[in-house]
Amino acid sequence: MGPPGAGKGTQAERIAGDCKIPHIATGDIFRAAIKAGTELGRQAKSYLDTGSLVPDAVTIGIVRERLQEPDCATGFLLDGFPRTIPQAEALEQLLGELGMKLDLVLNIKVAPAVLLERLTGRRVCRQCGTTYHMVFNRPKQEGVCDCCGGELYQRSDDTAETVSDRLRVYADQTVPLLDFYQQRGLLQEVDGELGIDEVWASMSGLLRSLSR
Ligand code: ADP
Ligand code: AMP
Repeated sequence: MGPPGAGKGTQAERIAGDCKIPHIATGDIFRAAIKAGTELGRQAKSYLDTGSLVPDAVTIGIVRERLQEPDCATGFLLDGFPRTIPQAEALEQLLGELGMKLDLVLNIKVAPAVLLERLTGRRVCRQCGTTYHMVFNRPKQEGVCDCCGGELYQRSDDTAETVSDRLRVYADQTVPLLDFYQQRGLLQEVDGELGIDEVWASMSGLLRSLSR
């Protein structure tokens, strides 16, 4: 959990690598569908363009399918889902059906003033999806991915105008989930304003205490 630009994707890559579990990011699924020109992409495009949320029924449907893939049987990491109370309730029900449960909900806390710079400076590899930042996490060669040599691009929703809409949507629809998970004793918070390695150090500490 965390607002857009908090560092969810950046940390999720590390967690998924460390715990050897799939990283399931609903935003990535929607962007891939838009790129591939599928029916899901056609349905999702207008919502991503304006920074509003894709309807719950569509989003829950894709997560339901994804969590039943064989690679999720031994665990998974969700990034960007759930984002509404109905999505969280649907996830609880789905996990119950699958005989699974959430171990931990990590909330990356970052003040709104920091997020605009994080998001407008974000660059993503077109080929492998690795995320960079023009100031805080620069690639070795400008415009080129360190991992695969792919071209870096700016997401079309990472503009100042759309960012303010996305932050409003987060405050209205997603912040109530923090209480939802707090009440279930699952929520842990980390200070997302520290550097990427420091945030990772606190997250991996929480993950280690979980497996003890
Ligand atoms: P989210 O998935 O929460 O939207 P990202 O992981 O894509 O956020 O991070 C948003 C931007 O901020 C990226 O450009 C990323 O490189 C950068 N970033 C991530 N974590 C930090 C951090 N702790 N300090 C500075 N910049 C960061
Ligand atoms: P993200 O990559 O997480 O920043 O998400 C990008 C966009 O995808 C969001 O602004 C929404 O339009 C859409 N999206 C991603 N995850 C969800 C979700 N759980 N529910 C609804 N819309 C979502």
